[in-house]
Amino acid sequence: MSRVLVVEDESAIAELVALNLRHSGYEVILAATADEAQAAVDRVLPDLVLLDWMLPGQSGLQLAKRWRTQARTRELPVIMLTARNEEVDKIVGLDAGADDYLTKPFSPKELLARIRAVLRRKAPEALDAAIDIGGLRLDPATHRVTRVVDEHPREVKIGPTEFRLLHFLMAHPERVHSRAQLLDRVWGDHVFIEERTVDVHIKRLREALLPVDCASLIETVRGSGYRLARPVDSLAG
Ligand code: CA
Repeated sequence: MSRVLVVEDESAIAELVALNLRHSGYEVILAATADEAQAAVDRVLPDLVLLDWMLPGQSGLQLAKRWRTQARTRELPVIMLTARNEEVDKIVGLDAGADDYLTKPFSPKELLARIRAVLRRKAPEALDAAIDIGGLRLDPATHRVTRVVDEHPREVKIGPTEFRLLHFLMAHPERVHSRAQLLDRVWGDHVFIEERTVDVHIKRLREALLPVDCASLIETVRGSGYRLARPVDSLAG
């Protein structure tokens, strides 16, 4: 389930947005100030943030700017919400690092479409689309991993944590992820879980992929972390 942090001081709007998001299957965390939003992000990194521009105290714009300067939040998908409707504000918001921009009032339909578009671009593992890499197919909707071997689809027996780990790696192929990043994005916790846990589950994931000859897709990058490499013959696809 995708986590969306809604940062909005007007409770009527926050509740309405939360209601629509929950109805569409998102988990919603609410924050009414920049400080509350920062505390929520420090606890668990959300998949996406809906960030109101005008907040009491520190503005949403300042918060977005700060997130972009910090390694842990640099890639955090952010959609700015605002009552302003001037082109110059839109440019300022996007310059501050927002991925998209919504002007109030907006329809729930538009909100959901924008969220899906930003997630597709920046956090595809938060969506339910199936992913194919090198003949290995992961389908979040059915929770199945399969590979066609000698024209027969073979199912990979895989635990829930290894499934989430593989999903994240397949959604961001070729990129190197540190253990801390994987804890944040796969476990949702970078504080209380030891980094060694990642190594344990990577080992289990490779063991699960071994019977379908895909264990070598998961590469260890010494001193940095792990990555899922696209096999050379699938680079074109
Ligand atoms: Ca506001």
